[in-house]
Amino acid sequence: MWYPILRFIDRHDSFVVTSHINPDGDAIGSEVALTHFLRQRGKSVLVMNSTDTPEVLRFLDPDDEIRIYGEPGTKNELDGIDAAIIVDVNNWEHLGHIGHALQSRQMPRACIDHHQESMEGFAEHTVSDTSAAATGILILELIRAAGGQVTLPIADALYAAIITDTGTFRFSNTDTRALRAAAELCDAGCNAFEMHRKVFGSKTWGAGRMLGPVLSTLESTAGGRLAWISATLEMVNNAGATHDDMDGFVDLVRSIKGVELVVFFKEMSEGDIKVSLRSNGNVDAHAIAKHFGGGGHLMASGMRVPGPLQHAIDMVTRECLTLPVFSSR
Ligand code: 5GP
Ligand code: MN
Repeated sequence: MWYPILRFIDRHDSFVVTSHINPDGDAIGSEVALTHFLRQRGKSVLVMNSTDTPEVLRFLDPDDEIRIYGEPGTKNELDGIDAAIIVDVNNWEHLGHIGHALQSRQMPRACIDHHQESMEGFAEHTVSDTSAAATGILILELIRAAGGQVTLPIADALYAAIITDTGTFRFSNTDTRALRAAAELCDAGCNAFEMHRKVFGSKTWGAGRMLGPVLSTLESTAGGRLAWISATLEMVNNAGATHDDMDGFVDLVRSIKGVELVVFFKEMSEGDIKVSLRSNGNVDAHAIAKHFGGGGHLMASGMRVPGPLQHAIDMVTRECLTLPVFSSR
């Protein structure tokens, strides 16, 4: 499985490593670990994303190396780079505007990802393994296959990736492959307690102030099987918070007994609503996201829809209610 990607790595000297917009722990952790691995092999590496690293994940990038495409000077930084490795995303829309730069430069591309439905022509070499709980697991397997060394920064980054995408081994994607990978990373020196505290136990006061307003929007229908919450821009501004501060809110609602699907609507601007879908396994969240041009996984997916907020709520909940699970029982 890894041979084509390893050959791709051997053939080029300098790489840009990139991932999806609004990068999460799996995106950043996979990028950081891959960067260390490429440098072990003597490659020069630039890490650049379309949008900024969330505050809680900055500890994974202690030298503040991750660049944001579009910031002053960053376009030139891609000059002279041979190839791109794209992780944890498999389509142009979710990669963001750095994708246009990769395409216009006709940069050779490899993709390592675990999302469903990879896009034709997205990369020349793709490892797409939807059975992997996190892209971080695939990066560990790549490093193993190449006989690379799992150093402490790699172990920490990949552990952060795995606990992000498995909700610290609680989500349905948790399997022995994820647990074995985690054990191996702890053998390599990662401290599981510390890492969990950094990724999930470092919420900001902005996040604390958002909890009340956002959870007070909770509504449900279909006998409590479909639930949704929303956040207006005004709430975010009043709390002095950011959109990243609301990570995890949707899981609080999913833990209510009887809820099959939770939808979280975040107003990014008046005309742009970010939608997160979380299912308890009986609803295909990915199918709904796909219907609206988004993507993700069976139990966790997302998309952007036009505003205003109430219009988005009506449109998406109406679509959800067409699913058989929500028809009256
Ligand atoms: P989240 O709700 O945490 O932002 O995203 C959940 C999952 O859905 C992630 O796997 C993410 O990659 C995917 N996802 C979220 N938003 C989008 C989107 O706008 N487009 C696509 N293709 N995938 C998305
Ligand atoms: Mn992922």
